Amino acid sequence: MKHIMVIAGSDSSGGAGLTRDIAVATELGCAVRPVITNVTAQTDLAVHNIHSVPPSVVEAQIETALDHHLPDAIKIGMLGTPDIAASTAAALRGIDIPIVLDPVLKSSSGSALAETSQVNSMLSQATLVTPNLAEAAALTNSALATAEDEITLQASVLLQMGVRSVLIKGGHGVGSESVDHLVYEFGHRRFSSKRLSKGRRGTGCALSTAIACNLAMGFGLATACENAKAFVHMWIAAPQ
Ligand code: PLP
Repeated sequence: MKHIMVIAGSDSSGGAGLTRDIAVATELGCAVRPVITNVTAQTDLAVHNIHSVPPSVVEAQIETALDHHLPDAIKIGMLGTPDIAASTAAALRGIDIPIVLDPVLKSSSGSALAETSQVNSMLSQATLVTPNLAEAAALTNSALATAEDEITLQASVLLQMGVRSVLIKGGHGVGSESVDHLVYEFGHRRFSSKRLSKGRRGTGCALSTAIACNLAMGFGLATACENAKAFVHMWIAAPQ
């Protein structure tokens, strides 16, 4: 069985964060090594409280999990504080395993979960960074992209900032198709699916974890992104 390490926050509503990550990985047949960065108390409507795990404890969770048996891929979600970002970066330095970084900045309810600077400090360590349109705008300090040339410009700014590959997700955009843009060493790939009229909490968590599972299973980056998008599309469309 393939193993992924998930470095993320818990969400007491069960919609996003580690609960979502574990559910997705389990469905895809991967085992999870969970590393908890933050404990959040939230509902679908608001984040009420965030307790950040001491950075040394985050680092210890990562180091002991790595000592035990190297995972096949790593997904990083909510970091939450600069010190947790720094400890995570230190604990992962020199590790040659695919790392998918979901730059979690806000909950859907609008509460801040991290600052761009914390994510910036980890950008160059990730194999793939998966911002949505708002996160790509925040990370590149630009306005929300609405046209494809603006999306590709933001992707190239992220590459200049040290990102190796970026998937800018169109799920929060407009139009009948939801298009994700992968910009990586082999160029630019677009993955499109019909835009669904409903959304779900935790879609960003689900997608990045599904990509990490696909990378763990040995798929290349583009196929991993394509498979993960199809998986998340079916999950959103399924009756709840
Ligand atoms: N809470 C935690 C702990 C998360 O990790 C995330 C996303 O990664 C969210 C909330 C945001 O999820 P949503 O956009 O569904 O609110």
